[in-house]
Amino acid sequence: MLTLTQIKNKSAPRLIGLHPVVLAAATALIERCCACGVPIQITQGLRTVAEQDALYAQGRTKPGAIVTNARGGYSYHNYGLAVDFVLLLPSGSSVSWDMGRDGDNDQTADWLEVVQQAKRLGFEWGGDWSSLKDYPHFQMSFGLSLSKLRSGAQPSAQAVESAYKVIQTVNKDEQNVKSDVVAAVKVNGVKIADGRMENGVTYVPVRAVAEALGAAVGYDSATRTVEITSGR
Ligand SMILES: [Zn+2]
Repeated sequence: MLTLTQIKNKSAPRLIGLHPVVLAAATALIERCCACGVPIQITQGLRTVAEQDALYAQGRTKPGAIVTNARGGYSYHNYGLAVDFVLLLPSGSSVSWDMGRDGDNDQTADWLEVVQQAKRLGFEWGGDWSSLKDYPHFQMSFGLSLSKLRSGAQPSAQAVESAYKVIQTVNKDEQNVKSDVVAAVKVNGVKIADGRMENGVTYVPVRAVAEALGAAVGYDSATRTVEITSGR
């Protein structure tokens, strides 16, 4: 099994040059997919206009198969506003474009889970396009057409701010879900409290635990210190 850091490192080179809010959304997407058992890798991020032109030439004026219908400047990738993903297999050494794969065995195709998470984070999905569907593709247009972007328009501060808010709200939801993991805390076989688990740390009411262990608990509000004194 890959750790979240290992999963993130695989995408890191493709996150360079993205618009900051798209970077925040892509990072949240990697984290959230990982948390629901679907590791992904970002395979494309910013593509410069020259890179896009080279890609467009492939299969037309250069050898190879046609891979895009977009010339330089005609893709949201060219403005750092789009990412492409692929499913990362548990070994970490291979990837999958199988849209029917259910690697985490939850009766929902992994691909669909990623799409659902991406949409919650404010991404538009290339799979929703009516012509020439692009299933690995997510983008944020901020209401700007490609012709607007080609003539130098930038996402408005207001559009960027509301995109950040969407991401923050989703991330906050995730934390609430995590802190809702409740674990019964027992001392010598007797349940004394419900603890909450968050990121591998269990939070429990200190007084209940200390007193169950025969210790006294004091609180000094001036120094914001909880002092536990065991009954030695
Ligand atoms: Zn794409």
